[in-house]
Amino acid sequence: MKRWPLLVSFALSSSCSRSGLSDHTLDAGVWEEALEASRSCSGVEMEDAGPFGGRVMLTFDDGPHRVNTPRVLATLRAEQVPATFFALGEMLESADQLAIAQEIVADPLFDLANHSYHHDDLRYVSASKLYSEVDGTHERLVVAGAAPDLFRFPYGASTCTSRDRVESRGYRVVGWHVDSVDWCYAGSGSCSLSRVPSAFRHDMVGYVLDLLEEHDGGVVLLHDIQSRTADVLPALITAIRDAGYTFAALDDPAVLPLLNGVEPPYDPWLGETCDPADDRCSFAEPDAWCEPVADGTSGVCMRACEGYCPDRTGSATTFCVETPVGEGVCLGRSDDANHWCDDVPGTVADEVDRFVGASGASAARRTVCVPEDWSAG
Ligand SMILES: [Zn+2]
Repeated sequence: MKRWPLLVSFALSSSCSRSGLSDHTLDAGVWEEALEASRSCSGVEMEDAGPFGGRVMLTFDDGPHRVNTPRVLATLRAEQVPATFFALGEMLESADQLAIAQEIVADPLFDLANHSYHHDDLRYVSASKLYSEVDGTHERLVVAGAAPDLFRFPYGASTCTSRDRVESRGYRVVGWHVDSVDWCYAGSGSCSLSRVPSAFRHDMVGYVLDLLEEHDGGVVLLHDIQSRTADVLPALITAIRDAGYTFAALDDPAVLPLLNGVEPPYDPWLGETCDPADDRCSFAEPDAWCEPVADGTSGVCMRACEGYCPDRTGSATTFCVETPVGEGVCLGRSDDANHWCDDVPGTVADEVDRFVGASGASAARRTVCVPEDWSAG
């Protein structure tokens, strides 16, 4: 009981820092849409469409660059931020650039991937040209010690045919959710592309943060050949963290399951059982967290409420309940969807009053799956 006030306020503050995201609710349809998107032939569209629970995956294209890539690597190491580098074959011809690639491979924080040989538009090239672009770079990546399985099309430009050909070589095609247009900011620090709102014309960091909100995180496209990107990276990492996001690796199957060819994990709804060590509650409902119960061996997804709670088709109806410290949280009612609380370990069916708060909702009393330790004292 002692831990309650702390956990509630922490969960609220961490979600509030990503304000404006509460309309991102994950339901069964989201994964179906993601699967549909995965059939797209675009080199930009990602198989995993999010939301990402605030996870951000950094990617750097077109290197390795003799000066700027080592600067990028140093920043990422200092901040312990994972990243994937989509390298060009023509940037791996010299011994010193190959050595940088080897350095990337040797560090478990990083992944080295294929971005073609010459950075040509590969949409309408012959099969032999496309295979030479993919295979030529593959060979150099292998020399650097990598076992590459991720490919990004130059400019994100692909057709169904070119995509099929790349995939026939054993590669997964990776696009992005957030295009930083760092190349556009590279010269003077300002970018006047029409897609960049005027408020962000001199503010690449602000522009990236604005785009991250759309997917509650996602894959960010950057370029390690740009000196300005290396300059801005420390501030960008700080701003992303300060906004409440966390960094993840592109090969993390918990964040990008479709990219990594695994079944999407189940994202529990409010009142359902969850794993406190792998809190996926915010994937289904951004303001939710996994509250440990039964001495932390399991958890229950909760969210602060006054009067009302959202429901999800297929999950037990929810109810706004008062906690032992007098705050409202959403829990699941005892019904056949949770087998009368049997599916929520560490809870018992108990008849409780609605937490009305300032909602103006009428008083009500329902049988709810309540954590056992609430009544223990
Ligand atoms: Zn590129």
